[in-house]
Amino acid sequence: MGIEELRQYAANILRDGRVKLLIGYGEGGDGRVVPMFITATEIERCSQLIYDQRCTYNLSVYLLKAEIKSLWSGAVNLSGKVALVAKVETVRSALGLIAENQIKKEDLCLLGVRGVGAVAAAGAVGTEGDWSSISSYCERVFDVGEDVGGDIGEKNSHRLPEKLDQEIDALLKKSPEERLHFWRQHFASCIRCYACRQICPHCFCSTCIVEKSMPQWVSPVSSESGNFSWNIIRAYHLVGRCVGCGECARACPMGLRLDLLNRYMVKMVQEKYSFKAGLSAEDKPPLTTYHLNDNQDFIK
Ligand code: SF4
Ligand code: SF4
Ligand code: SF4
Repeated sequence: MGIEELRQYAANILRDGRVKLLIGYGEGGDGRVVPMFITATEIERCSQLIYDQRCTYNLSVYLLKAEIKSLWSGAVNLSGKVALVAKVETVRSALGLIAENQIKKEDLCLLGVRGVGAVAAAGAVGTEGDWSSISSYCERVFDVGEDVGGDIGEKNSHRLPEKLDQEIDALLKKSPEERLHFWRQHFASCIRCYACRQICPHCFCSTCIVEKSMPQWVSPVSSESGNFSWNIIRAYHLVGRCVGCGECARACPMGLRLDLLNRYMVKMVQEKYSFKAGLSAEDKPPLTTYHLNDNQDFIK
């Protein structure tokens, strides 16, 4: 079975020293899934690795955490590769981070996990076909996505790409004033907990714009205008970088429709720049590069 193969492979690469740390999914009790961090001193824990519909987290978010970065800087004398159990969006985020010079390709060992169930549960944006572009960046791709049943996929079914597209189409039929009203009302419920930012692998700034005080671009506390600015600015900062993993929407305690916003931005980037984030470790996000023959209309 695929998951057994993954467990054995993970144990082997830790045992032979090819990687120093493996990050995957494990049981957290009460039906919850938690990230697992396994080093060579506890290889037996690899037998507890899981992958099913509940494994929605985009584990690339851990690659830039100080504790993991310290492995690479040698600060704790554990320099070496980190292995990541990676669903399709996780691989794409990792490639995006490499493209943005946040991590080095040679420091990573991506163990791809493929499965329709988990993709649907994640509320991701139809990324299963992307394996053809990205699997060459993985050490191996394991088919471990058995559909384990349950209602998790059902709960998230409103986030399936076709459903999101229907909602976007309905919104686009409204007037600009009506759309503005929709988002103003919607953002009003934001409590500024910043879970959306913390869970996103691409929100890696050492000082987020919302924490800058000289000048203060965005009020950090919950207010109507501050909430609007925060959510729009964050969406702009993710243009051409968001891989549509759905994690910010899933993490939002107020149920803000960040999935709609992200999906729309992803579609715009595809339409305007023919670019999809995270399909290669070499291609930079379009808004971080320029060409002399770029269309200059936007500054005229
Ligand atoms: S997670 Fe939701 S409530 Fe929290 S800051 Fe983000 S949008 Fe606002
Ligand atoms: S919201 Fe913008 S400034 Fe803040 S961490 Fe994300 S990308 Fe950086
Ligand atoms: S903005 Fe949201 S959907 Fe996009 S990569 Fe970040 S967490 Fe995933």
